[in-house]
Amino acid sequence: MKLMTPGPTQVRANVRAARSKMFCNPDLDPAFYDFYKETCDLLEKALGATDHRAFILGGEGILGLEAACASLTEPGDRVLVIDNGIFGKGFQDFVEIYGGEAVLFTTDYLEPVDPEALRAFLSKDSDFKYATMVHCDTPSGVLNDIEALSRICDEYGIMVVADSVSAMFGERLNLSAAKIDILCGGSQKALSAPPGLTMVWVSQRAFQAMEERQVPIRSFYANLLTMKDYYQDQWFPYTMPVSDIMGLRMALDNFYADPDVYDRHERVARATRKAVKEMGLSLYLRRGMSNTVTVIRVPEGWTDQEIIGKMRKDYGIQIAGCFDYLAGKVIRIGHMGESCNMEDVQQTLRALGDIIGESGNSRQAG
Ligand SMILES: *Cc1c(COP(=O)(O)O)cnc(C)c1O
Repeated sequence: MKLMTPGPTQVRANVRAARSKMFCNPDLDPAFYDFYKETCDLLEKALGATDHRAFILGGEGILGLEAACASLTEPGDRVLVIDNGIFGKGFQDFVEIYGGEAVLFTTDYLEPVDPEALRAFLSKDSDFKYATMVHCDTPSGVLNDIEALSRICDEYGIMVVADSVSAMFGERLNLSAAKIDILCGGSQKALSAPPGLTMVWVSQRAFQAMEERQVPIRSFYANLLTMKDYYQDQWFPYTMPVSDIMGLRMALDNFYADPDVYDRHERVARATRKAVKEMGLSLYLRRGMSNTVTVIRVPEGWTDQEIIGKMRKDYGIQIAGCFDYLAGKVIRIGHMGESCNMEDVQQTLRALGDIIGESGNSRQAG
């Protein structure tokens, strides 16, 4: 099955091979601490981080979002949840689980958050410890300008937690130009390692806020402070998933070896959107589509499952439907990381065109 979903994405053979190598005891072997740190250094450099330290956590992408909220939220803290999609709104749950008061700033789900609208909102109420935001809200594929949004939050002294799980390594992001305190990523999206790891980039200011808390962090596994001094102390809070990390490192080496990554995401996404429109299908969003995923309205006379099922059964291609308010309404083609190449995308679009074309005719005739 060819994976053309917005995560997990295709995984290159050298990444799968790296995961099958002999491994050491990651708690006891000093060489592993060096390997882990080098990998984190590469993660920092890949996103232009100067003030942040990257960490790899053993757990799916969701762990990073929860760890950020667990580590920053003290009971009663007001947190601004910037919401123009399912993941955007979803931060409310993490904030509330850890005793924070989530205040939603909800904008049109069909387009990116307007930085000026955020500024206008904050000019009336800016008493927030931190704000949450999403780079690419994957269910709709809307891409927010988190560099601009985070800088506006910073003008008001508000820290920022940003979910770039489905955008980073496919959409350009420069941490030195942004004011993001905790950035969250996952292994199985554009970096194209299998699911299982979260990456977080944590600013000095975020660590300071964690250290200055009145109430201790109410989690162990999701406590980012436990990772802070792993290298000096040669101690991890739990045994690191060493094979997963060897795979992630190979995926990162692949990223570094490919200077065309961001331009290719742009080209492939543009070609996908164009082809979809030429097929007579409509894109879900009004504007602001991410270059990592294309979200298409289910055409009249079809269900999402019919299309997805035919793609699987007749063409061996896995695309995605959606959930929540978009359940049954859209289908999604992921073109990020290894899945972002013209050949696979064209094959996917041809299959989709065949299916829709074939039935459009028969349904009209019937
Ligand atoms: C995939 C994804 C996550 C992580 O979700 P999982 O269910 O753990 O894969 C978080 N945020 C966004 C925007 C995502 O696309």
